[in-house]
Amino acid sequence: MSQSEKSRRMGAVKQITSHSNPIVKEIKGLVSQRKQRTQSGLFVAEGLKLATDAIEAGWEVRYLALGPEARENRIAQKAAATAKAKGAMILEVNTAVMSAMTRKDNPQMVVGVYEQRLQDIESIDPAAATVWVALDRVRDPGNLGTIIRTVDAVGATGVILVGDCTDPFAVEAVRATMGSLFHVPLVKTTEETFKKIAQSWPGTVAATHLKGSVDYRTPDYSEPVLLVMGNEQKGLGDDMANACKTLIRIPQVGEADSLNLAVATGISLYEIRRKNLDL
Ligand code: SAM
Repeated sequence: MSQSEKSRRMGAVKQITSHSNPIVKEIKGLVSQRKQRTQSGLFVAEGLKLATDAIEAGWEVRYLALGPEARENRIAQKAAATAKAKGAMILEVNTAVMSAMTRKDNPQMVVGVYEQRLQDIESIDPAAATVWVALDRVRDPGNLGTIIRTVDAVGATGVILVGDCTDPFAVEAVRATMGSLFHVPLVKTTEETFKKIAQSWPGTVAATHLKGSVDYRTPDYSEPVLLVMGNEQKGLGDDMANACKTLIRIPQVGEADSLNLAVATGISLYEIRRKNLDL
């Protein structure tokens, strides 16, 4: 084990004032390059709320960068102490370095680097599920993050990313989850594997489709539900649609061709979970 690895495991505090510090460069790369996130298995989440969500949910923290304001903030100090005790390196940085790391003029007071988590498709247990949302080649990180947040809000079980999807650990996606990323299991799979799952699913399989013949308010949605959503531009692929028992449609009256993917997912999820949601 290298010296830096040893000190990281024990938890350490490091002051960084230079933009050219290797850790600053590493974090910049994680913010801007999917390849670097994939190779390292790490990602960046901005903000104190996300840091406390991640730490409380037991995610591995690699670095926690604290700007000047965070060093005066009790919650940030507590988060840093917990993360450090679990082996994270605490970085004390100035506002300029925080800006450089996150490529933002007004950076958050805390920025964390965490280990990614993706579950295996085999871990899906329909018997223990309410609703899994499957996304066919979702492209927009904001849509993906918003869907993860909504899945969390309605008490659905998790999200399955099917085929070539946007990176759930991209900064924009993580930001849009508002912390729900740390509470919602994510699975990645291929279209072939997904079709097998859909065909053997024991409960309701409902795919949203602009050509669906079933009004989304009519099925009884007996759980476990597999809700399947199409790609932003191309909609749901034909093979995917054929693997699903019911094609549901959300009525529209104006001139819009379709609803935004995250909006259509939210409307469907609230209908599916309606009986389980009380104020
Ligand atoms: N041009 C695409 C098409 O032909 O399907 C539009 C895709 S739409 C932006 C993205 C996804 O949101 C669709 O594939 C579907 O899953 C869902 N969606 C959007 N509006 C819908 C509606 N009115 N009824 C059912 N699903 C809808």
